[in-house]
Order: sequence, then C-alpha cells, then structure tokens
Amino acid sequence: MAALKTVALHEAAHAVVARVLGQPVKLASLDSVLTRHRRGDSKAHRQQAIVALAGPAAEDRLCRHTREERAQLWATVWRIDLANAVGHVDATGGGANLVA
Ligand SMILES: [Zn+2]
Repeated sequence: MAALKTVALHEAAHAVVARVLGQPVKLASLDSVLTRHRRGDSKAHRQQAIVALAGPAAEDRLCRHTREERAQLWATVWRIDLANAVGHVDATGGGANLVA
C-alpha cells in the first residue's frame, strides 16, 4: 500500500504541476501522465522539464529518501523523468551533456 501511495503521489505531482503551469493534462494514471504542450516552444519545453522533475521531487519529499536512496532512484525508476527533463532543456538549445 505504501508503494501505491508513493506512485500515486509521484504521478499526481506531475499532473498538478502541469496544470499549475497551464499545460492541459490529457491523461493521469498510476503508470504515467500525458500532457499537451506546444512543440518547438522554449517556454513550454522549460515547463515540461519542471513537470518531469515534479514527480521525483514530490516523492522525495514524502519518503524523505537518504542521499544514497535518491542516487539509486535517479539511476533507476526516476531515470525516465530525468531523461525527459534533460530532453526538454536540450530542446530549448541548452543543457546538452547535462547528464553523462
Ligand atoms: Zn515520474
């Protein structure tokens, strides 16, 4: 149950932050959150980077992970969020080589 609560909070954070930033949420589930943003728009890409990091940030706040746990999560289950955030930052013309 605790794991399900953590996943729900993680995905809800993506959805809530997207809505706060004015991005329509197409789908929110325990598997993912899909938003709609304007492609090629730097502001939208910056916002999407924030949305991508909102899930891990909320989860970390709830679970109070140790530094080691956080490092493990970034390398595994949070990796797709990190990759999405970097991809959106790259799309603005900055951020290449942020993650080795
Ligand atoms: Zn996520």
